[in-house]
Amino acid sequence: MADIYVRGGYVLTMDRDRRVIRDGAIAIEDGVIKAVGKREELDKDYRYHSDIVIDEPHSLIMPGLVNTHVHLAQGLLRACADYLPLIPWLKDRVWPLQGNYEPEEALVSAQLVVTEMIKSGVTSFLETGLVGRYGPDQIIEFLHKSGIRAAVARHVMDMTGYALEENILHEGLVELGDKSYKDTLRLYDKYHGWDNRIWIWFGPRTPGAVSVELYRKMSMKAKELKTGITMHLAEVKADVEYTMTKFSKKPVEFAHWVGLTGPNVVLVHVVWATDEEIKLLAETKTSVSHNPCCNMKLASGAAKISEMLRAGVNVALGTDGGPSNNDYDLLREMKHAALLQPLRTLDAAAIRAEQVVEMATVNGAKALMIDHLVGSIEPGKRGDIIVIDTWKPHWRPLNNPVSHLVYAAMGSDVKHSIIDGKLIMYNRKILTFNEEEVLEKADKAAWNLYQRAGICTQPDLKWPIK
Ligand SMILES: [Zn+2]
Repeated sequence: MADIYVRGGYVLTMDRDRRVIRDGAIAIEDGVIKAVGKREELDKDYRYHSDIVIDEPHSLIMPGLVNTHVHLAQGLLRACADYLPLIPWLKDRVWPLQGNYEPEEALVSAQLVVTEMIKSGVTSFLETGLVGRYGPDQIIEFLHKSGIRAAVARHVMDMTGYALEENILHEGLVELGDKSYKDTLRLYDKYHGWDNRIWIWFGPRTPGAVSVELYRKMSMKAKELKTGITMHLAEVKADVEYTMTKFSKKPVEFAHWVGLTGPNVVLVHVVWATDEEIKLLAETKTSVSHNPCCNMKLASGAAKISEMLRAGVNVALGTDGGPSNNDYDLLREMKHAALLQPLRTLDAAAIRAEQVVEMATVNGAKALMIDHLVGSIEPGKRGDIIVIDTWKPHWRPLNNPVSHLVYAAMGSDVKHSIIDGKLIMYNRKILTFNEEEVLEKADKAAWNLYQRAGICTQPDLKWPIK
């Protein structure tokens, strides 16, 4: 007897032994995984005695994916900042757009991103930084309603620069003094731990926008509150120039110096790290979120992921946002993560599909400090499971499901999604909110935003659209 019984083809457990069970099945009750095993063994107890039976013999069943770097407020900014490197990309396009948001538009952006993530297999994610003008409360309340699991970082700042460039943050995003710090604590008190699906983190802005004192204050507070911190670091060369010029420290050394290393810290990108810095990341058990599509598109560089994995760094995967990727499909990101290391090292075996799957599941759960709850399919863990349809030409012949998952799959192959033991998407239809309404609202909200900001009002296209 179970609430949900899933019968499938392959079950990728991602448990300690990384068992892959052919003709497998999973029983879930009260939100918790009760049994995992062969169909022939579990059928007698569950096949005709469960409330919901999902029978998919041509499927791959795996833990829900964990996206460790998401900008919910960038969902409406797709194609608004193509062909630019990071600093002009931020200063001239992304920040002026984000600095013009009305809360109802930011909510639509978040809804659009969550729709895309659920439909491509993400069950947990880390938002990198909400700000006051987005209306964080209504966004967090929507996240809870959607059924997804989320660690939500709120941006914390007290300066307006980026690296060595001072006063470049758009005025609509500026929150000076201790305003952003105090609002993070308010959100923490209100939402942290809500149904074991919502957590509030600190999301300091990149060095140049936060004083050393504030970095130290929030890192101590995060430890006291047993919550996390996430920040972009060493994304481009200008980030290295800033910490070297101002503090005579390399970026990871700087982060360590201000308290931003440790098992509760997720540093994003870390493209420009030396071998010594990689060692420091491993020693301090700091997680790294790798976002290969963003790094390639913005010409930021290629992170030394093979070296980080060899050194024992917990590397997880993220999509970043609408104007830098430009999608939130973590399955596609897995392919890019697998392709970038061979290209960078000229070693075809620089990274393996198994490692990439670990990055998108167990490593992501560890980065979010929720690996005791999710990240693998084993009895006692919460039921966060996706069912991927393998009865498709790009999945055949099904001679290596792990290789196909990384090199051939795409987000739209995900057919059903269960989060916290609840069916959230069935046959590609989201059951917790009206996704059609979100798509309809998105175009209108984006157009209003573009008009107000005076940016992206015409498509950046060499060809005419008539
Ligand atoms: Zn980012």
